[in-house]
Amino acid sequence: MNSTPRKRPPTPNHFNQETEFMTARIIDGKALSKQLREGFKTRVGALVAQGVTPGLAVILVGDNPASRVYVGNKVKACEECGVRSFHIALPDDTVESEVLATIARLNADPAVHGILIQLPLPPHIDGRKVLEAISVHKDVDGFHLYNVGGLVVGNTIFPPCTPYGVQLLLDTTGTDVAGQNVVVVGASNIVGKPMALMLLQREATVTLCHAKTRDLAQHTILADILIVAAGKPGLIVPQMVKQGAIVIDVGINRLPDGKIVGDVDFEGVKEKASWITPVPGGVGPMTVTMLIENTLRSAERALRMRQTDDYQDWEAPLLKGA
Ligand code: NAP
Repeated sequence: MNSTPRKRPPTPNHFNQETEFMTARIIDGKALSKQLREGFKTRVGALVAQGVTPGLAVILVGDNPASRVYVGNKVKACEECGVRSFHIALPDDTVESEVLATIARLNADPAVHGILIQLPLPPHIDGRKVLEAISVHKDVDGFHLYNVGGLVVGNTIFPPCTPYGVQLLLDTTGTDVAGQNVVVVGASNIVGKPMALMLLQREATVTLCHAKTRDLAQHTILADILIVAAGKPGLIVPQMVKQGAIVIDVGINRLPDGKIVGDVDFEGVKEKASWITPVPGGVGPMTVTMLIENTLRSAERALRMRQTDDYQDWEAPLLKGA
């Protein structure tokens, strides 16, 4: 095997000055999550000392096995961080009005600081109506129109958890995203669109691609930072990636043999990228961690409001890169 290092062509990524070609460095979401969750324990302790135990309510309608796993992970993360969880499991045939009544009860409950509806909902329930019923003060998933609108104008109370986690993962590389070419592949309401808005807010030049994008590669090849959230295993191959790019793989796909993979050909692309997230162990752990972050933030806001009647604290400082 030839171990002579190849020359890395110059890239505009000033964070990586070495000239020798190397395999990408791994952005370790599991390690960052662990570190953040350790910090959460201190914040929970401070809240409890002031008489507030942060609480997260998770509503699951129906019996989707994947949803049950996701809810289980969220409840476990709450326990780990000292956040009280309220797991509300409703049967598949629950009528919409009952789901709305459950939300109204949780909106009024001072022990609950965050409310999350596990998606997808059964088809007879209007998901948008249900999401709009959650108090904006408890919308820790960030899916309420108020929070979505906040992203458009550059501040929001609760950034949606997955893009929020991606943003912190990017920060660990030491990259200033301002002026970078960012390409986001996937334009869903929960990942791609809010991701694009957050990075636009941080002055990146953002391209948003989706299933109808013609010649995806002509866009991805220009990306200094490539974020992929399409749910298509093997979608991004090395020829589509610029040398030295940062590659964040949000995709989670289960192959017929049971293996979990992302949307990026990890083995091939890591030979070209400067940084890359693995799947699993990249974005996945961060999503749940940011849910806890938002829940703590909500509890801290509630406490401040109680103490000072100050309703002006709308902005999420991490979003602004503070
Ligand atoms: P989604 O709602 O199905 O959206 C997929 C997006 O990808 C759509 O905008 C779609 O375009 C686009 N797309 C599909 N095929 C494409 C292609 N060949 N080329 C370019 N774009 C394509 O999915 P999602 O909820 O955003 O999730 C995306 C992936 O991320 C899934 O694998 C999901 O499991 C994963 N995920 C992971 C986390 C985590 O914590 N790591 C969290 C959420 C989601 P159109 O809009 O044109 O249909």
